[in-house]
This record gives sequence, C-alpha cells and structure tokens, in this order.
Amino acid sequence: MKYDVIVVGAGVAGLEAALVLASKGFKVGVIESKPVEKIGDKTCGDAIGVHHFEKISLEIPGNVIDYKYQGVKIYSPSEKHGLIVPGEGVSVNRVRFGQWLLKEGLNKGVELYDSHVLADVTIKNDKVEEVKVKKVDGPIIELKAEAFIDASGARPALRSKLPETWPISDRPFMTDFNIAYREVIKSEKPVTGEDSKYALIYLNAEIAPGGYWWLFPKSEDGFILNVGLGVVWNGVYNPRHNYEKYLKPRFKGELIHAGGGIVPTRRPIPTLVWRNVGVVGDAAYTVNPVHGGGIGSSLEAAYIVSTYIGNALEAGRIDEEKTWEANIKYMESYGAKQAGLDVLRMYLQRLSNDDFEWILKNRIVDGSSVYDLGVKGELGEKILHTVSAMIKLLGKPSLLNQLRIVRNYMNRLMSLHSAEYPKSPGELPKWNSLVENVVEEYARIIGFERGQKVKW
Ligand SMILES: Cc1cc2nc3c(=O)[nH]c(=O)nc-3n(C[C@H](O)[C@H](O)[C@H](O)COP(=O)(O)OP(=O)(O)OC[C@H]3O[C@@H](n4cnc5c(N)ncnc54)[C@H](O)[C@@H]3O)c2cc1C
Repeated sequence: MKYDVIVVGAGVAGLEAALVLASKGFKVGVIESKPVEKIGDKTCGDAIGVHHFEKISLEIPGNVIDYKYQGVKIYSPSEKHGLIVPGEGVSVNRVRFGQWLLKEGLNKGVELYDSHVLADVTIKNDKVEEVKVKKVDGPIIELKAEAFIDASGARPALRSKLPETWPISDRPFMTDFNIAYREVIKSEKPVTGEDSKYALIYLNAEIAPGGYWWLFPKSEDGFILNVGLGVVWNGVYNPRHNYEKYLKPRFKGELIHAGGGIVPTRRPIPTLVWRNVGVVGDAAYTVNPVHGGGIGSSLEAAYIVSTYIGNALEAGRIDEEKTWEANIKYMESYGAKQAGLDVLRMYLQRLSNDDFEWILKNRIVDGSSVYDLGVKGELGEKILHTVSAMIKLLGKPSLLNQLRIVRNYMNRLMSLHSAEYPKSPGELPKWNSLVENVVEEYARIIGFERGQKVKW
C-alpha cells in the first residue's frame, strides 16, 4: 500500500498532523497501537490554556470540555501561601477530544490502522522508504509513503529506529523527563470556594521531587478530581509510591481512572525534520519544561510540521532543505520559549521546600510575572528587582546571584533557538554542539546532574 504520508501514533499530535494533510487532499495513513475505541485515552492532567486552540484556529466542540478554569493557583509546600496566575484554561475530556479529532480526519479520508504497532523501518537511498507494521496476532504489512511523521509520544517508535547520523534520531538524558502518576477520582469531599476555580499546583520537593503535585477539578460540583504528581526521572524516585504515601490518604473516593507516563521537560529536539521524516508532539519534546503541559504545543508542532511537509510534497521534493522552515516557525512560535524554560526548569529542580516557601511567602514573584514567564519564557527585570529589594530586608544574597546566572543562560539558550537558530540544515551540527556545550556548562555551574542517556 502506498501513501503520501504515514503518521505513526494517533495521539493529539498525530491526529492533528493527519487532519491537516488530509484536508489538503493528501493520502494519509495513521498507525496506532491502541484499538480505535481507546484512541484519546491518554493518562494526563487534562488541563490546557485556551490560547493554544486559538493559535491554530482549532474550534473544538463544547462536549470536549469537562470544566473551565480562571487560571492556575500555585501553593507553597506548607500550603499557607498561594499565588494566582490568571489565564483562561479548560479541563479537556481526552477520550472525546481524541475521538473528535479522529472523526474529523476520517471524514477527510484518513485511513486508520488501529491495533497496529510499528515494527521496523526500511531505509533506501538515504530516505525512509517503508515501514513494517504488525497487528496483534496478525501478519506484518509493509506501507510505503513519500513522507513519514513520528507522533508516537515520549518513547518515539520511528525516529529511534533511524540512523544515529540523522540528527532527528537525537537521544535525550533521563533527567530530561518527568515520570508521572495520576488518578481521576469521584472524591468523597468536593473542592469548593476559590480553589474550585483554578487548576491547583503544589510545590513540594518531598512529595514531588523535581516536579510538582496537582489537583485539577474536573466537574462543576467539585467532586470529580484529577490528582497526580510528576518527579524527575533519575532512577531514584517513584511517583506511584509517592502518590500512595502522600496523596491517596488525602483524596479518598471512587477511582475512575489511574495511570502513569513519562513527560519530556526540556527544549525541543534540534530539528523536527530530516530527509523525508517529520517529528511532532512528545516525540519531538515539544512539552513546556516547567509545567509539563504538552497538549497545546503538540498540536502546534503538528500543525507547523505537517504544513511544511505538505508544501514540500506539492513542490515535488521532500528533504530537510525543503522543510527547514518548519523548524524556524516552531522555534519562533514555541521552541525558543521552551529553551529558556528548560534552563529555569533545571534551576527549579534544585530548590528545596525552604526555598519555595520563602519565594511564595515573600511574594518574590507575582501572578503577572509568572504569566509573562510562561508566555514569553523570560525571567523579567521585575522579579530581579523584587529579589534585590527583599534581599536587603531578609537576606538570601546568594539567590540574586543565582537568578542572574539563570537569566543569562535563559537568554543565551533562547537566542540560540531564535536569532541564532541555523538558517539551513548544513549549519545544524555546529549549532547543536554549541547548544550542548552551553547546557553542559550551565548544568555544571548550578550543580545539576544530567545523569544517563535513555536507552531507546
Ligand atoms: C501523567 C501526565 C499528565 C499530563 N498532564 C498534562 C496536562 O495537564 N496538560 C497538558 O497539556 N499536557 C499534559 N501532559 C502531557 C500531554 O499529555 C502530552 O504532551 C500530549 O498528550 C502528547 O501528545 P502526543 O500526540 O505527542 O503523544 P501521545 O498522546 O503519547 O500519543 C502517541 C500515540 O502513539 C501511539 N504509539 C506509541 N508507540 C507506537 C508504536 N510503536 N506503534 C503504533 N503506535 C504507537 C500511542 O499509543 C499513542 O496513542 C501530561 C502527561 C502525562 C504523562
């Protein structure tokens, strides 16, 4: 069977990419290991800022939204101090969202191979020629295409099988990820009052070392809750264990859904396109490194990469020269911000509960600064100014110095992912080793152990 494009993975990223390409009239096949009725069933916190849908003009139907938030409220470890970050958000019903995106794609002619797993990749003339896919207890089938998109999530199934000389096969460090566990429950006690209007984030390095724990209400009556936590993936911490120990006794109720997963919390992959392959969503590490939200940026990356792959197919030639603009657009739209936040993420992962308590108690940051940080990825002058003033009153002189270092490296990495991002693929190797050196240098300065590379 021959397609214009084969997409591996029917998560939000793969379904969006397939929809964009099928809407332009391309023949698209989607390979998904889950059975069709499970598409969309992703373990997730389900929270997303509405600006993500607006950015790619995706008009989702009302029944995909379980609940609406006025913003995020961040709690200190003692839970005595809270900080409200305003911004409209929603709790998405992931199954309905996935099924809706799938239906839109099928209506445009997308062909779905559900319950099929990518088994192998054939490379010929320095391009992917075909993929071998296998149904459980079924034969292997070969699918050829002009282009392939890896949208298979945080453990990338396609690009991990590509030659290591292709930069799109990039292997990350384990500490570039959080491992997370969460339960959706019908709680015995509802969340009420001001808290019920927000997605609640709790900073606590004992419960969620290198991450945070969350309480996201999912229903108007406050009884349906999405509760979970993420920890840095370093082979030491176990989120399920911490959930049982710290959160389960606190959130009693009827279990609706439980699950875990890994979340990339780093800057994007050096290139989202190479030869006739594109990579989108978690497979391209497009998640926000600080809060771990990746639904919106997966959609965005999918929209951008599939648009440029479509353009290249229309022009009759597909390779990284022809699709390079996809990288420039993604870095401009989200990747540079991610790079800045990756620097901040490593710093935050080194902070103790005393540090978090001090920062929130003394209002070192306010909601609008955190919003700016989230939207632009910039550690603003206002925060440094407040820290300077507070230091005079309360001590902690080392904090100002540390924040200056963090800000310098945030700016450096953002610049490397925007103005200094390679204008053409030939410049990528030099740029990539420069980025690696900067990250290595920063990690050394702040004492961040990057650990081992992942094995896939
Ligand atoms: C516990 C947890 C909480 C999270 N909370 C939030 C949140 O509140 N807000 C937010 O925005 N983001 C959150 N995220 C991140 C978000 O869920 C992801 O960024 C997003 O869903 C990524 O979408 P994707 O399409 O790239 O990958 P996925 O949704 O992982 O989709 C990949 C698809 O590929 C399929 N696949 C994998 N391997 C193969 C193979 N070999 N062959 C065929 N198919 C294959 C999988 O079955 C899957 O359907 C959370 C993640 C986790 C784990």
